[in-house]
Amino acid sequence: MGKYIIAGNWKMNKLPSETYDFVKEVASATADASCEVVCCTPFVCLPEAVRAAEGTHVKIGAENLHFEDKGAFTGEVSADMLLDLGVSYVIIGHSERREYFAETDETVNLKIKKALSKGLLPIVCCGETLSQREAGITVDFITIQIKKAFAGISAADAEKVTVAYEPIWAIGTGKTATAEQAEEVCAAIRGVLTELYSEETAEKITVQYGGSMNASNAAELLSKKNIDGGLIGGASLKSADFAAICSAAK
Ligand code: PEP
Repeated sequence: MGKYIIAGNWKMNKLPSETYDFVKEVASATADASCEVVCCTPFVCLPEAVRAAEGTHVKIGAENLHFEDKGAFTGEVSADMLLDLGVSYVIIGHSERREYFAETDETVNLKIKKALSKGLLPIVCCGETLSQREAGITVDFITIQIKKAFAGISAADAEKVTVAYEPIWAIGTGKTATAEQAEEVCAAIRGVLTELYSEETAEKITVQYGGSMNASNAAELLSKKNIDGGLIGGASLKSADFAAICSAAK
């Protein structure tokens, strides 16, 4: 299966002035981790995050990017700007961006293509609402999200993408999908990727679970065959909790 990647999503938390020390703390707390360790930070924290991560195993990611190269897009940040800072990863299509900032499957696809064309590694989010789960359409809905996200992306590029399955009802709610529920959807995602590409390609793609993953439930979730890591919100803001999740990813 894909390479184990544990990525923190700080969202709109932590100040630039807190970032250097915190990333250093993460680096020392995760020194023994066998997974890839990523901190995705607000744009304004990125320079300090990159500076702190230099010479360590920690990689730095952004939480969004624009799909155009440059121009009249007030308030937006381009792939080249992120690369110029030394950023490696970028979260694309988080459910909060889809809900509050009108991101669509189409803009998500454009952003993935832009990130890949520039050499940034995308972490692409998908996930159903509670009503979609209750209506029994979770897998159908996620199949559509994945097909639209990967439209026009070659197998060689697809291997560089990480997919984060994040049931919306589990994000920031303290309600975690059971390991069985998470595995069922992550296996379905792997199935769609197999259909789009090949089994070999699908197996190289990291599929993460995200949604109230914490130090207590990480080991069980990460023991599942098709769960190759986690996208971590709340628990990424405390270095000890985040490190405990990284240690569970073996
Ligand atoms: C997230 O927003 O990506 C997330 C998984 O948040 P939390 O861990 O807080 O549920």
